[in-house]
Amino acid sequence: MELLLKSSKRPQLKLSDAAKGEIREMAYVIAEPCIGTKDTACVDACPVDCIHPKKDEAGHADSEQLFIDPVECIDCGACVPVCPVSAIYAGDDLPEKWAEFQQKASDHFGR
Ligand code: SF4
Ligand code: SF4
Repeated sequence: MELLLKSSKRPQLKLSDAAKGEIREMAYVIAEPCIGTKDTACVDACPVDCIHPKKDEAGHADSEQLFIDPVECIDCGACVPVCPVSAIYAGDDLPEKWAEFQQKASDHFGR
């Protein structure tokens, strides 16, 4: 029994790593329209608190936009309809002209 548990544990870890990579690829992304608006409406809509920097966080004033943590985002889409400038896209729907914003988000969180 113990052996079975051990052998089933390792594959689970590998699957978890694979899933993590998938989430990074698919996570929602905030694109160019946020710049100049940055009203943080999306922050209140997010159930996992993965949009930063928030108003009360260091770096908020200096950051020209908000970013979605690509690892923590659960792809629920709740932030999309509340954005007044339609700045938020599912990763695979992100317009090509704003492709760089995916990397910007990763860089922001050091992912
Ligand atoms: S898709 Fe969901 S989890 Fe991801 S940033 Fe938007 S509200 Fe948060
Ligand atoms: S709701 Fe839209 S414009 Fe406002 S901070 Fe979020 S992404 Fe930027």
